[in-house]
Amino acid sequence: MASRSSARGPVRAGAPREGDAGFEVAVVGAGVIGLAIAAAFARAGRSVIVLEQASGIARGVTSRNSEVIHAGLYYPTGSLKARLCVEGRRALYDWCGARRVGHRRLGKLIVATRPEEEDVLADLLAKGRANDVEGLAPIGTSALRALEPGVRATAALHSPETGIVDAHGLCLSLLAEAEAQGAVLALDRRVEALATTSFGWRLDVRGGDGGSEGLDVGLVVDAAGLEADGLAERAGVAVDALGWRQHPCKGDYFVLEGGPESTRIARGLPSRLVYPVPQQAGLGIHLTLDLAGRARFGPDAEYVDEIGFEVDGAKADRFRDAVARYLPAIAGARLSPDYAGIRPKLAGPGEGFRDFVVEECGAYGAPGFVACLGIESPGLTAALALAEYVLRWDSP
Ligand SMILES: Cc1cc2nc3c(=O)[nH]c(=O)nc-3n(C[C@H](O)[C@H](O)[C@H](O)COP(=O)(O)OP(=O)(O)OC[C@H]3O[C@@H](n4cnc5c(N)ncnc54)[C@H](O)[C@@H]3O)c2cc1C
Repeated sequence: MASRSSARGPVRAGAPREGDAGFEVAVVGAGVIGLAIAAAFARAGRSVIVLEQASGIARGVTSRNSEVIHAGLYYPTGSLKARLCVEGRRALYDWCGARRVGHRRLGKLIVATRPEEEDVLADLLAKGRANDVEGLAPIGTSALRALEPGVRATAALHSPETGIVDAHGLCLSLLAEAEAQGAVLALDRRVEALATTSFGWRLDVRGGDGGSEGLDVGLVVDAAGLEADGLAERAGVAVDALGWRQHPCKGDYFVLEGGPESTRIARGLPSRLVYPVPQQAGLGIHLTLDLAGRARFGPDAEYVDEIGFEVDGAKADRFRDAVARYLPAIAGARLSPDYAGIRPKLAGPGEGFRDFVVEECGAYGAPGFVACLGIESPGLTAALALAEYVLRWDSP
């Protein structure tokens, strides 16, 4: 069986014995959330196993996003999203600096392209300040022209704390920390079923070769991304009754098509991230830059019934026109499909704000099962703070 754990001995199996859990904590999912949680529990002295159904880490939602370190200004004050984003961002910059994970504090502009949108900027400024986001400043058209001459807007908000990060590098650093503290990563291991025992949980784990093993653990942390609601349901949590069903919402990305004209346009692009005012299910089709300086446009937001990552090339002109409203240089450009990601949203189509669900499910019939549901954006930014939050259910 292709598994990191096989090099360290198999996942512990066998009949459950009272008081002899195989591991104190099992984290299901090796995305950024699961890895951050594993590192936090391992650092707290717990024996931890991370079970991941794929044959590598960070192959889920974590591998398909904008890699933006969000400042924390979009979310209602006091919500988990607001608190964990702001705390997580501060911790993330420190973490990346200390561990040499690729990142850059580029700053971001949120732009109004019509006077009617300026109220939204004012609301974002007020919310951001209430959320304790540092350095936010409204800027007028002449300051904007000096800052980013290629951006057209009637007004803008500058967020200097926004940045970008190498998501995969971050996950590798979290894994390194977790393993250094004794945690075990088991790849090609899917948690199929789970049942409560007198001392915690017995997991039924299927390996890549189709065989199954039992694993006894004290606490289960559900960090299963797009499948987190299904896992919670298998743990006996009434997901639908609680409103915890996740609604997959796809976002496509486009890049400038190759060629000399695109190279010319790319040279004149802003050096900061540029976002329009937020839209219903997402943040609007924005310009982000990766660590290599490559520009990408997106994501949009489209609820889907099935998980699939094909980018619809027919959207290219719509993306270009949306971006050209604030970046006129793009008007003549040709865009080509890049990649797509899928958000595990708790809000269904047309519904309002929904917060992250990070809860121990004792009150819902599943004691010792911690559900992390609806971990869409800003989950990458919030990961380190979310992991500390989950530690509240650590019971030595
Ligand atoms: C389009 C898009 C753009 C985004 N942009 C940003 C951004 O710019 N900034 C930001 O902060 N956030 C952003 N996010 C959000 C961020 O990417 C996520 O919040 C974060 O990656 C979620 O990580 P995760 O570990 O919860 O999920 P995942 O990375 O999906 O990890 C879950 C893992 O669980 C595994 N798994 C599932 N079921 C089982 C099982 N039964 N047994 C074993 N393993 C299992 C999966 O294989 C997967 O590897 C974006 C998201 C999307 C979709």
